Order: sequence, then structure tokens, then C-alpha cells
Amino acid sequence: MLRKAVGGKGLVDYHLHTRRCGHATGAVADFARAAEEKGLLEIGFADHIPQYFLPEDRRDPGLAMPEEELSAYVAEVLETAAGFKDLEIKLGIEADYVPGREQALEAILGRYPFDYVLGSVHYLDGWGFDNPAEIAGYAGRDVDALYREYFQLIQQLAASGLFDVVAHPDLLKKFGCRPRGDILPLYEETVRVIAASGMAVEVNTAGLRQPVGEIYPAPLFLELCHRYGVPVTLGSDAHRPDDVGRDFEQAVTLLRRVGYREVAVFERRRRRYRPLR
Ligand code: ZN
Ligand code: FE
Ligand code: FE
Ligand code: ZN
Repeated sequence: MLRKAVGGKGLVDYHLHTRRCGHATGAVADFARAAEEKGLLEIGFADHIPQYFLPEDRRDPGLAMPEEELSAYVAEVLETAAGFKDLEIKLGIEADYVPGREQALEAILGRYPFDYVLGSVHYLDGWGFDNPAEIAGYAGRDVDALYREYFQLIQQLAASGLFDVVAHPDLLKKFGCRPRGDILPLYEETVRVIAASGMAVEVNTAGLRQPVGEIYPAPLFLELCHRYGVPVTLGSDAHRPDDVGRDFEQAVTLLRRVGYREVAVFERRRRRYRPLR
């Protein structure tokens, strides 16, 4: 099959998952080679953090690497990074925000030289709402209440100061659970908290490959981010090398329309910017 070399030339992809997480394919170097072929300038790995928020006997190796693998992950990224000259490779991690477990997370993050930490909400009171195996959980739930609950957690995530970027900010829509009524006040309240926290938000193209068929976050949310001066990162949430930089032309179109002209990049958790090609 003929494959077009599209999707990310001159850009940055900060959301890549490797086989280590148990539900992706490809090693770090496979993603780096794919990125190089597609002409990306910079990539960052953001494998799922070990499930520090669950007791050890309830952790699922199909959702995140076991804790004893974390140092091997870090070593693999750093070693691979040293072997690529024209592609900058950063060490990130995708970390779940779970209220009450901030100190445990802080301890893990402090052990490694991460360039950036993506903060995610994948659970509402233990319900993995973005997990296809738990989709039945939507039945009988009030959509407006779900949205309030989810974005309150995003606000707590931002206020925690533990993260650099809000990952897939409106992940709750993944399976088509769209906000109803006037969502603007909740979005605006959330974006103000994010802006006050000094964090960036992620524009994540994986939503295009899900039932919702839309980039995370929704255009309205992103417009508010721009209005409040919140920086953005770009991520494909690739779980296989082929998806590096996937659909980035759509993300760039959206970002430019909203008014963004640069994306944030990180080194040892300090932010800089690269122009949006
Ligand atoms: Zn994943
Ligand atoms: Fe995620
Ligand atoms: Fe991810
Ligand atoms: Zn993700």
C-alpha cells in the first residue's frame, strides 16, 4: 500500500505511547524513526504512568506499565534520544490525576528527569469512562452532571500544580457523550483555572479516530484557551508508529483559525515555544 508522507512535517508530537503500556505496538526507536520519516522536528513520549492510585493486585498491565518498568522506560527514551541528531526527543509521561493521591504521584515524578508531564482524567470515581470495556457505565447517567464532575476534576488537576499540560481536555466526549445546553460557563470557569495555573492544554487528534470524530478539545474550549492566553501542545496520542503526527494538518488548521501561531515545548519542565508551521 502506498502511504502518504503526511501529518506532521515541521511539527511537534508530544503524546506517544509505546508497547510498554500493554495496549500499544512499537518500541521507542520505532516511533522515532516514523517521526523522522514524516519530517517532525520534535517528539515526546508520554507512556501511561504505572497505576500508582490502585492497590498492586488491582493494577492492569494492559492499561499501564508495571512500576518496576518505569526506569527501563526512562532509560529507553533517553538512550534513543541520544541516537537521533535531527529529531529532538523528549521524556514525558501521561499521569492520571486522582484526588487524594497527589503526594504519591509527586514522589514518582520526582524520581526521573521528565521534560514534561501530561495530566489526564480517565476515571470518575473509579469508573474508567474512556475505556471501551466500561462503556456500559454511561447508561442512565445524567450528561450535565457528568460534565460538571469531569471538568471539576480537570480544575483540581490544574490547581494541583503537578502537571505541565492538560491532556485531551474534553475526553468525556470520546464515545459521543456530548455536552448539552449551555456548556460555555463550565468551559470558561475551567479555562480560567487552567490559565491561572500556568499550564498548557493539549490539542489531541485521537478524538478524530474515536466515535466522537472530533479533536480534543472542542473548538469553543480552544477559543477560550486562546482568549485567556493558555499555551497549547500538539499530540496524536499514537499507540503505533504509523499514527505519529496523525491528522496534524487538521489540528494546525483549527489552531490557526482560533489564533494560535506557536506551540509549547518543554525541557526539564521549562516551557519554550516553536512556531506553528
Ligand atoms: Zn493508551
Ligand atoms: Fe489519556
Ligand atoms: Fe495517551
Ligand atoms: Zn491519552
